[in-house]
Amino acid sequence: MSVRLDEKLEPIYQDVLRRNPGENEFHQAVHEVLETLGPVLVKYPELADQKIIQRICEPERQIIFRVPWQDDKGEIHINRAFRVEFNSALGPYKGGMRFHPSVYLGIIKFLGFEQIFKNALTDLPIGGGKGGSDFDPKGKSDDEIMRFCQSLMTELYRHLGEYTDVPAGDIGVGQREIGYLFGQYKRITNRYESGVFTGKGLDWGGSRARKEATGYGTVFFVQEMLKARKESLDGKTCIVSGSGNVAIYAMEKAMQLGAKVIACSDSTGIIVDEKGIDLKLVKRIKEVERRRIKAYTEERKHAKYVEDGNIWEVPCDVALPCATQNELNGKDARALLKNGCTAVAEGANMPCTPEAIRVFQDAGIAYGPGKAANAGGVATSALEMQQNASRDSWTFAYTEKRLEEIMVNIHNNCYETADEFGAPGNYVAGANITGFLKVSKAMMALGLI
Ligand code: GLU
Repeated sequence: MSVRLDEKLEPIYQDVLRRNPGENEFHQAVHEVLETLGPVLVKYPELADQKIIQRICEPERQIIFRVPWQDDKGEIHINRAFRVEFNSALGPYKGGMRFHPSVYLGIIKFLGFEQIFKNALTDLPIGGGKGGSDFDPKGKSDDEIMRFCQSLMTELYRHLGEYTDVPAGDIGVGQREIGYLFGQYKRITNRYESGVFTGKGLDWGGSRARKEATGYGTVFFVQEMLKARKESLDGKTCIVSGSGNVAIYAMEKAMQLGAKVIACSDSTGIIVDEKGIDLKLVKRIKEVERRRIKAYTEERKHAKYVEDGNIWEVPCDVALPCATQNELNGKDARALLKNGCTAVAEGANMPCTPEAIRVFQDAGIAYGPGKAANAGGVATSALEMQQNASRDSWTFAYTEKRLEEIMVNIHNNCYETADEFGAPGNYVAGANITGFLKVSKAMMALGLI
């Protein structure tokens, strides 16, 4: 990593490298946070004395376990699953489960680490955690998914609880999987404990607007960044990587606010539709039929599908990376700038590489990091927990309004904190410092635990 850390922070980072060998994504996430904390230690030296950063970098608990399951032909498969309970200073561990073949401890730890700060930014009482498995849901039958989820929960249930650890979805885990996981939890514990999962179906304790929340929240964040620059989304051309839950609802909100969305993607290729993406069609292909995005051109013949295409080469005003980590590198960032892009916000977790972030920041465009820009999902999870705790169910309009207020608040806090710490317009510094201070103050108050 080329950016030098403050002399107090470098040894902490070296220690993280030594203690967590091979976990590259975790190293990257820690480095990005430490890069911004130098001025914080100058202002609050007691945080260094109390070794708050070293404590935050070490998860409170890490669970790794075997998940054996049988496919439809009777063949046995063994997967590995994780739950990293990172920090509970602000509330029960909270964060999604990711099912993807790339999952290993380093991915879950980077996600869990980011989740601590993201959740703190929401100002809601949730700690940070994350879990997942190297199970690949692609091409699996419903029954196979169910058997896998049941096997996983048969081990994980003992670590969960509405006041202990509350999972949700992430890549590869949507309402169907949450249903199977929650069903098995209910069966083993003999408790209808709605608040132990979020992202549930509306008929069984879910919250309206949760499905939409991450994507909508990202676009609300963009709207605020643009407002701060006396601009708006109206009439802007927008591209969104991915076509999963986050991407679909980012596209929906961007369109509602007057933007023209012309491209999206999946792991095999990109779609460019200069007339504007037909979202109904994307929803049908992805949410109902569970097919590849390539199918889009079967019905929209004028649209272009490029196998393995690079979405960041499509000219746009606003780019929303909503697929996965490190999907946008320095070269991509330069291509976006060359084509006139002036705002980037991360719907995914850590989609921009450190080099890409530097390119955006050096150019002075609006760049919203995932910790802030995609916090709407987990914030609405906390709203789902509120509804479950009071056995209530709110309207879509009310829940969306709360989400928007939370995103405006996150934006303003990041903006003001960046200013206060001498980095005006730097939302990375603003988000890291705001989240870090909130967690640190709670940790100081709770004693050495
Ligand atoms: N996986 C989502 C995230 O990255 C949501 C987590 C949650 O709702 O608990 O924030």
